Amino acid sequence: MQALKQIEIVGGGLSGLSLAIALRNRNVPVIVHEALSYPRHRVCGEFISGVSQQTLDALGIADIMEQCARHDLVSWWNGATMMGQYRLPSAAYAISRYRLDALLCDRLRAVGGVVQETNRQQFTDKEGLVWAAGRRPAKGQWLGLKMHVRGLTMSSGLEMHLGQHGYAGLARVEDGWVNLCGLFRIQSDIQGKQEELLLGYLHQCGLHVLADKIEHCEWRVGSFHATAGFQLGRQQMPTSMLGIGDSESIIPPFTGNGMSMALQAAEMGISPLEQYANHQQSWQQTLQSVHELQLRRFLRRLTFSQWMHRLILAPSLRRPLEILSTNQLLPFRFLYSVTR
Ligand SMILES: Cc1cc2nc3c(=O)[nH]c(=O)nc-3n(C[C@H](O)[C@H](O)[C@H](O)COP(=O)(O)OP(=O)(O)OC[C@H]3O[C@@H](n4cnc5c(N)ncnc54)[C@H](O)[C@@H]3O)c2cc1C
Repeated sequence: MQALKQIEIVGGGLSGLSLAIALRNRNVPVIVHEALSYPRHRVCGEFISGVSQQTLDALGIADIMEQCARHDLVSWWNGATMMGQYRLPSAAYAISRYRLDALLCDRLRAVGGVVQETNRQQFTDKEGLVWAAGRRPAKGQWLGLKMHVRGLTMSSGLEMHLGQHGYAGLARVEDGWVNLCGLFRIQSDIQGKQEELLLGYLHQCGLHVLADKIEHCEWRVGSFHATAGFQLGRQQMPTSMLGIGDSESIIPPFTGNGMSMALQAAEMGISPLEQYANHQQSWQQTLQSVHELQLRRFLRRLTFSQWMHRLILAPSLRRPLEILSTNQLLPFRFLYSVTR
């Protein structure tokens, strides 16, 4: 019997850690290189919508996800006006990345995986290497900002606030904290440090009511985080590399589906990588099959969600959207299903 080949994963975020756990549960030797250390805050809306029990079971992380809060009601706001409340066909999970990624890292170590923290890797193609390092650096017009606050009154466990040049989502996570995360078009005239910057963007978007409420909350020390320099949609991953998660494609954040895609991509990687580790197929066949599986599964939702992203940010369409929504004429279930 030949020894199983080792799989090396660059990036210990959702896709990298969950894939590594699944492979370890199938006895495949795995090492994960992570640039930072756990626990750490990340820019993310921190609600996970559209992942199935089957995916969580295949990855071996269903029990971890049971520790999440569950929310099935989402309120959409246009500035100070609530446009409508919608019930999600299946409840979203809500948990901070601070907690979730640390739990996944602990699980991976418990099942015999190696995680090397503070170990940033060069972008390179190599047999047996999976690139799961998140958003690829690119010239982009978007800025993502996040922060945890406590003491905020919400209309439901999840809220989405549409502004003029961006949007902000609220998700009630653990210990009374609410994650506030926004995606904003970069404006060079808005300056400020950390919370000031976030408040500056909220005001600039016309989200004054939200900004005023946030100002009176308790702010979680160290939870502010920012990210910029990325593009939405399919990423320019070389065909000689096996990429999963955001390094392969980025869905607009309003969908709350990016983390589900990261988990689904990890699930799609299990069988091909297990076969590679077992000497049953070449690396070329492995990366081709994972690439094709992701393309087939994600293309429709990426296309639809990018259109919707443009529509909800178009100032001229905001009022018609509000009228449709307040009159309950938006086909919410249809829009939900095509972005998943
Ligand atoms: C503003 C905003 C809001 C969002 N809101 C939501 C939401 O509400 N719900 C949702 O489902 N999704 C949301 N997303 C998307 C979601 O965060 C991502 O889709 C998800 O984190 C992708 O997981 P990943 O494993 O691919 O990457 P990540 O989770 O980003 O993990 C990548 C890991 O790789 C590490 N890394 C990076 N470079 C290197 C290197 N060179 N060497 C070693 N390690 C490296 C990083 O430190 C990180 O730990 C949002 C995104 C943005 C920008």
